Amino acid sequence: MKKRHIDVWDNCLSVIKDNVHSQSYKTWFEPIKPIKLENNVLTIQVPSQFFYEWLEEHYISLLKKTVKKELGVEGRLEYSIIMDNYDAGTPYAIKFPTSNKKDTKNPLVSMPLDLNKGTSKDIPNPFIIPGLKKIKVESQLVESYSFDNFVEGDCNRLARSAGYAVAENPGKTAFNPLLIFSGTGLGKTHLAHAIGLQVKNNYPDKTVLYIQTEQFISQFIQSARNNNQNDFVHFYQMIDVLIIDDIQFLASKDKTQDVFFHIFNHLHQNNKQLIITSDKPPVELKGLEPRLLSRFKWGLSADLQVPDLETRIAILKRKLYNDGIEIPQEVIEYLAYNITTNVREMEGALISLVAQSSLNKKAITIDLARQMIDKFVKNTTREISIDYIQKVVCDFFGLPVEQINTKTRKREIVQARQLAMYFSKKHTKSSLATIGLHCGNKDHATVLHACKTVSNLIETDKQFEGYVNEINKKIQH
Ligand code: ADP
Ligand code: MG
Repeated sequence: MKKRHIDVWDNCLSVIKDNVHSQSYKTWFEPIKPIKLENNVLTIQVPSQFFYEWLEEHYISLLKKTVKKELGVEGRLEYSIIMDNYDAGTPYAIKFPTSNKKDTKNPLVSMPLDLNKGTSKDIPNPFIIPGLKKIKVESQLVESYSFDNFVEGDCNRLARSAGYAVAENPGKTAFNPLLIFSGTGLGKTHLAHAIGLQVKNNYPDKTVLYIQTEQFISQFIQSARNNNQNDFVHFYQMIDVLIIDDIQFLASKDKTQDVFFHIFNHLHQNNKQLIITSDKPPVELKGLEPRLLSRFKWGLSADLQVPDLETRIAILKRKLYNDGIEIPQEVIEYLAYNITTNVREMEGALISLVAQSSLNKKAITIDLARQMIDKFVKNTTREISIDYIQKVVCDFFGLPVEQINTKTRKREIVQARQLAMYFSKKHTKSSLATIGLHCGNKDHATVLHACKTVSNLIETDKQFEGYVNEINKKIQH
């Protein structure tokens, strides 16, 4: 029979109430909140470290009796301590990591309490909890970023299998640290989480922590401000598997690099696993100390490449399957064909497509996909317009851009206008007529003439050629 934690705790309280002074009851028991009851372990939340120690000192036997009465001899009690108003001096006052955005739960640290303390050690007692006072750390892992959901392809085979090997034997393979690098949106964060999740599966007792480098930096700054850097370092030094994402953000943060260096060394010496991701290969990580970079080379650096078409299709299908959505194969292929460089963007397009179709009650068709992609692709590759070209040309010569559209025949304006026409022909898909219309209301023959003139000048005038090249660079920037 499963008892609910609130009922169990209420029953305990009614016994306790009869056994302590009413003032004590108010002070020490009313503030306690039951949190959960799992596997015969009742977890109660207490407001502070001091509170926990007081209970342990003064009420341990009473608590033990009542919990046993409720849960039987197998029953146990665990404390979860809210660390909000902690005092920097106390041994458990370690507040890292701060809760992440998705999950603002407060009990950052919880620790099992040995209810056996102070009782005879001869009698085997179910209250002895293995891993006494080991601090539980919120791993900050995202369940959906699992190995199952990480589609394998040529693009990621090495990194994926190295990651898998690490998860089977954290700290014991040659891949320590494991450094995963790639351009943005290609799966570094996903793979890093997958390794962490798999370690937790294989070794539930290992302390795994995923942390973004930016979070790490701000924690460190905070700890310096509060004068408890030692707590910060100690916290990280007790992690078994440390995953630190986007290490490139450590560039030029000398003090944080220094502290990371010490944490790294400590963990590595103790055969703890480090997993690091970066948006560049180690050699290109500018602003990182050489001693740190050389440590990264101790293990394995593995990159993630852009997935090929087949893998992109498989990734989309996996995502649809997870979300329980069906869309026609041809639409999936269309997306995978057209969004080639970035998995995140491809997933973004898919999500928008599904959202669009459900909002407007339209079927998901190739046409809808096409409209969507047009928007996406336009957003990602900036389109060069005639207006933009005119602006770049006029800025280059220090002319006001309106002059191009006047009838003036001043030599420098005429030349700017001709250049604008020439570049518009080169960089836009507009017809000669359209270009003429936008450049001083001229006809297509004028545009053609302008293009020829510019081409001739490029061949005969070195200085002019230099100008054209410079403007061209600016336009394509
Ligand atoms: P990065 O950290 O390299 O910028 P992410 O790990 O955030 O990239 O990946 C971006 C998105 O693409 C995530 O939603 C992730 O799940 C997905 N993704 C990337 N690679 C794969 C893959 N091989 N299989 C499945 N999903 C992937
Ligand atoms: Mg990432």
